Amino acid sequence: MAAVRLSALPAITGEPDPAGADCVGCGRCCHHGPSTVTLFESDEVRMGPDLLAQYTVLERRPPGFRFVKNNGHACGALDVSRPDHYPCAIYEVRPQGCRTVEPGSPCCMEAREKGHLGDSVLFLRSDRAAAT
Ligand code: SF4
Ligand code: SF4
Repeated sequence: MAAVRLSALPAITGEPDPAGADCVGCGRCCHHGPSTVTLFESDEVRMGPDLLAQYTVLERRPPGFRFVKNNGHACGALDVSRPDHYPCAIYEVRPQGCRTVEPGSPCCMEAREKGHLGDSVLFLRSDRAAAT
């Protein structure tokens, strides 16, 4: 897959609250390119048909993976209606991949330093990664 050129947000220094209290004011790990956050079958069941239709897109080429929508540099489920405020619109039912990014983890710290998701965590399905 071709690398996506991301417009980075400013870096944030310091350790975030491990319980996630700083996440809404950060949102760096939710800034990434298209086809980044993939959904497993369990994610699809948890989200249900209405949210799937609103926030996800089915890849056309076989085998047709489903991804959370993306605007080119940020997740389509990221609510950017308020400046410097980055709540996830589907937080309670967010995909499994998003749940692997823990505040203060290497992935989180890399995203805070770069201003967008880095390479520490790949949301790609293992079968997709093997096919590309
Ligand atoms: S980069 Fe870290 S602090 Fe920022 S939103 Fe993601 S998990 Fe939270
Ligand atoms: S689904 Fe929510 S938690 Fe996951 S990348 Fe998008 S905005 Fe962030």
